[in-house]
Amino acid sequence: MDKRPDYKIIEKEILNLWNKNKEIFKFDINKDKRYIIDTPPPFTSGEAHMGHALEFIWIDFLARYKRLEGYNVYFPLGFDCHGLPTELKVINKLKISKENKEQFIKACIDWTNNMIESMYKTFERLGSSFDRDKVYKTIDIKYEAFVQYTLIKMFNDGLIERKRYPIMWCPKCQTAISMQEAGYLEKDGYLIYMKLPTDNGKYILIATTRPELINSCSLILIAKNKYVETENNLIVSKIYAEKNNLKIIREYDYKELENIEVTIPLINRKVKIISDNDVDYNFGTGIVWVCTYGDPYDIKWKEKYNLPEIISISEDGRIISSINEINGLKVEEAREKMKEILKDYIHKIEKINHSILSHTERSDCLSPLEFIPKEQFFIKIKDLKEKILEWQKNIKIIPESELNRLIDWINNIDQDWNISRTKMLWGLTFPFYEKDGKIYPVNIEDLPIDPRIDKEKVKKYNGKFLEDETVDVWIESSITPLIILYYALTENKEFNPKELPELFNKIKEYLPVDLRQQGYEIIRTWLFDTIVRVNLLTNKNPWKNALIHGMVLDEKGRKMSKSLGNSINPNEIMDKYSPDALRYWTLLAAPGNDYRFGIKDIESGQAFIIKLWNIGRYIEMNIKEKPEKVLELKDEDKEIIRILEENIKKSKEYIDQFRYSEYVKLWRKFAWEDFANNYLEKTKERIRNNDKTAKYLLYIIYKIILIMLHPILPYITEYIYQQLYKENKLIIENKIDEMMDLLIL
Ligand SMILES: [Zn+2]
Repeated sequence: MDKRPDYKIIEKEILNLWNKNKEIFKFDINKDKRYIIDTPPPFTSGEAHMGHALEFIWIDFLARYKRLEGYNVYFPLGFDCHGLPTELKVINKLKISKENKEQFIKACIDWTNNMIESMYKTFERLGSSFDRDKVYKTIDIKYEAFVQYTLIKMFNDGLIERKRYPIMWCPKCQTAISMQEAGYLEKDGYLIYMKLPTDNGKYILIATTRPELINSCSLILIAKNKYVETENNLIVSKIYAEKNNLKIIREYDYKELENIEVTIPLINRKVKIISDNDVDYNFGTGIVWVCTYGDPYDIKWKEKYNLPEIISISEDGRIISSINEINGLKVEEAREKMKEILKDYIHKIEKINHSILSHTERSDCLSPLEFIPKEQFFIKIKDLKEKILEWQKNIKIIPESELNRLIDWINNIDQDWNISRTKMLWGLTFPFYEKDGKIYPVNIEDLPIDPRIDKEKVKKYNGKFLEDETVDVWIESSITPLIILYYALTENKEFNPKELPELFNKIKEYLPVDLRQQGYEIIRTWLFDTIVRVNLLTNKNPWKNALIHGMVLDEKGRKMSKSLGNSINPNEIMDKYSPDALRYWTLLAAPGNDYRFGIKDIESGQAFIIKLWNIGRYIEMNIKEKPEKVLELKDEDKEIIRILEENIKKSKEYIDQFRYSEYVKLWRKFAWEDFANNYLEKTKERIRNNDKTAKYLLYIIYKIILIMLHPILPYITEYIYQQLYKENKLIIENKIDEMMDLLIL
């Protein structure tokens, strides 16, 4: 061993050694003592980032430890390829437009493959011991066929339907999105109080944030409560009049107001007043207008009162209106303009801060969403709330605090899952066609099918394929627990779609798998979607445990992002320090919590590596050949063996409870303090005098330390192990259970 570890050499040699012995990382589905991890397939729109590093290091840590326990571990690596972010990269960076479909899809494939190549190298460099022979991409033929097969299965079971419905639409991304991808953002806005003339010579006062939807108004709703007329003939809720100290001229019971006709200004439409239990009496004036569609209530009321559907917003977010001044304007521009053209009817304008339904799942979009009616595919989840709440009870979420996020979300479900995406080329198409107004699935033997390309396959069905629709990308990734089993069962076999039903039944036998690991920011998408899809498809839960991690923040506690310029490339850290030092830092994070990048911890990890190296050099210098097993124990020997045994027991506990940072601290303390500072010092004299017991213990305990540190620092431990012990195997082929046997006669 040299004076200092040279990671340029160590990394290269060890990675070569692992790749040469890749069967050690191989999962064999036919062997027992399985431990199966459902790992997150990263999106392939960009390079690997620090979040990926944390994710894969955690998984690898557990995988290596479990192998040392003798498990047949499945650590799959996958890549989630489709989606808008890649389309945007191809359009903006490669300057390729979507006009020529084939050229565009080809460019997306090239982009994706380049990113996969780069990410693969980074994941490998991190020390990830994934199964080299089962790497999957969501654009593999067999992956696509499997996804389409699950859609056909759900369709045949009546779980998927096609219907026309006001869907959430992102005008900026020009696509439909699901409620899993939407959220509320706080924004400044205006509450505009508008006077609407009635046929009895008064005015109804309503408060709205969306005056630009005026053309879609078809009904006025009031609460079942007290209303009053104030000065200037304004009709408002009694509570509003009182709060604003308005002079009350007369009171109305809500029934007296029903069926009065109201004229909508500028468009001169006459609409009715109806009372409804869902009107919030305390908001604004306690009177609302119903417009198709401003929010989810409008959807409900439109159906309840069978109102006409008058569309005011186009797919690109522009106003469609008979009012010339706003027709064709962007929604926000029209909203501003309305303040001017409505001025004779505006009573007052209040500045407010309110929650706007937005495209939150994509941090570079965040655009407000609109409701636009379209014919699409839906998975019927609206009525499954109780069932999903039951299913999740049998999954242990770690840490427990993250469970609330999931339960809140489940309780939040108020619409079916819209799984159609339009205007996306870089996506998987549906295996369905339309004929005589009905939807039919294609035959299994034609999977996968892409009607945009497979013109021959499509012909025989003599129906209309939905070439402009692709599936929500979460449909592809929400079956990863099934996919990884599918890949394990079909390794080295040629793909044959006819075998899908039989394989599908076989896969069910292995559910639930042991663990899902993922970030909290995709609980309502990936976690939720997988629980729903796998249960609907198999009647079984996807996993027994779900380990949730936080996000990596910069040293100041801000989210790492391109726009802030504070992202750190994991390769930079590995170049400057080592993959092991990076691992050391990520493993100090606690589940569920956001985690600040800390150069101090990385340096502290690197210092520990040097310490470990120096102990190795001391042993190399003092013990020239494998010492003979002699155990004539002195007090100091008994003490170090006792601590070691205790630590091995504690380690198992920590791993079982996913307390990785405590594991790291435990073995750092043991190696550095208990062993190096204490035991090594105490035995120096004995070593000089060639004490056989001391020599044997030094040699064996250091080996055990390397083995126990291996899941944290795989490179350096493997390298020293190969240098010192020459046992003609990888360090991971040792078994924790057998280690204490080395210390008894
Ligand atoms: Zn968007």
